Amino acid sequence: MDLELSEEQAAVRRLAKEFVDREIVPHAAEWDRAESIDRSVVKSLGDLGFLGLTIPEEYGGSGGDHLAYCLVTEELGRGDSAVRGVLSVSLGLVAKSIAAWGSEEQKRRWLPRLCSGDAVGCFGLTEPGTGSDAANLTTRARRAGDDWVIDGAKTFITNGTWAEVVLLFARSGPEPGHKGVTAFLVPTDTPGLTRREIHGKLGLRGQATAELIFEGVRVPDDCRIGPEGKGFSVAMSALAKGRMSVAAGCVGIAQAALDAAVGYAREREQFGKSIAHHQLVQELISDIAVDVDAARLLTWRVADHIDRGLPFATESSVAKLYASEAAVRAANNALQVFGGYGYIDEYPVGKLLRDARVMTLYEGTSQIHKLLIGRSLTGVSAF
Ligand SMILES: Cc1cc2nc3c(=O)[nH]c(=O)nc-3n(C[C@H](O)[C@H](O)[C@H](O)COP(=O)(O)OP(=O)(O)OC[C@H]3O[C@@H](n4cnc5c(N)ncnc54)[C@H](O)[C@@H]3O)c2cc1C
Repeated sequence: MDLELSEEQAAVRRLAKEFVDREIVPHAAEWDRAESIDRSVVKSLGDLGFLGLTIPEEYGGSGGDHLAYCLVTEELGRGDSAVRGVLSVSLGLVAKSIAAWGSEEQKRRWLPRLCSGDAVGCFGLTEPGTGSDAANLTTRARRAGDDWVIDGAKTFITNGTWAEVVLLFARSGPEPGHKGVTAFLVPTDTPGLTRREIHGKLGLRGQATAELIFEGVRVPDDCRIGPEGKGFSVAMSALAKGRMSVAAGCVGIAQAALDAAVGYAREREQFGKSIAHHQLVQELISDIAVDVDAARLLTWRVADHIDRGLPFATESSVAKLYASEAAVRAANNALQVFGGYGYIDEYPVGKLLRDARVMTLYEGTSQIHKLLIGRSLTGVSAF
């Protein structure tokens, strides 16, 4: 892999960096306190072409490769993980699944709006009783003539109350586990679908995380995406790439932690000199720097594999596992550099730590990724 960015990738990164510094960083703390991002930011992401990265131009996308997608995602993660998550889900999990699995009609119906930011997508896999054990989901889809009728509940759904469409996974047949699962694109204004925002999150407070309740939700068969019984493959293929996007966002958190720690260490004086002179403070900073580099290189490797058509699922688990744990460590180390000031929300590092904490939990917990990596190395499944 050539680690030198192409001119196009460097330009995309510059554009993202300028946008994040101008439009996101100054507002992130305020959105966090208000528990809501300004939705016009989503439209701006669309106008800049970021919500259409890797999606073909004929469907309103902006093309580009997966490394460009990682560069933008990292910058958004540096600015505000709550904004980064909107893109990772709406583009990374929903639009990319439609591009990969959707019919021509589904692509024309949803992709231009998702890429422009006129619509937002959400990904409905987790249920109150099934998180890591997603293949045992219980939301039901039963045939009713040419339609499907869906009943059940999903929880922790990012963009849940904002989304115009949910990529939903439901059990459509009698087969247990992953075999009986089918995927649907359900417009969120369909009668019988109610949404309730979940408040009180430790981090990602600006993001709309919701519970979705389906009571007799009737959709035509052309809302089914992918073959009947293949919904779990749709979900797993989305998540394999989605984990790269979470990893890239974590690199952004770690980079923000590094920038903040270096800046503060140079300014803050104790014992008659800046704390940057104290070797144990330098150790904290160097630990963060190593985590940033290692997480970034692991994440870029996934993008490189995807763009060259190589297997990438295990690499994606490795990157997500490492980068998420690294983001928590980096934010925690940065908070240590800030001393007591790190503990109050006037300074940015407390938010970085709160936002980082969920990264080891969603899109596969760290434990689940260790089992996936172990399975790919040994050929033995622990599930
Ligand atoms: C802010 C937020 C946003 C989210 N967004 C979405 C979204 O958009 N769409 C969506 O579908 N879901 C979403 N999720 C859900 C997320 O993916 C789940 O929380 C995650 O999969 C873990 O499931 P769980 O919370 O039920 O934990 P559990 O599965 O109950 O796990 C609890 C603990 O047990 C461990 N554990 C479980 N099984 C094993 C095992 N076999 N071996 C070893 N340890 C194990 C886990 O690692 C964890 O430590 C979101 C969650 C949060 C918090």
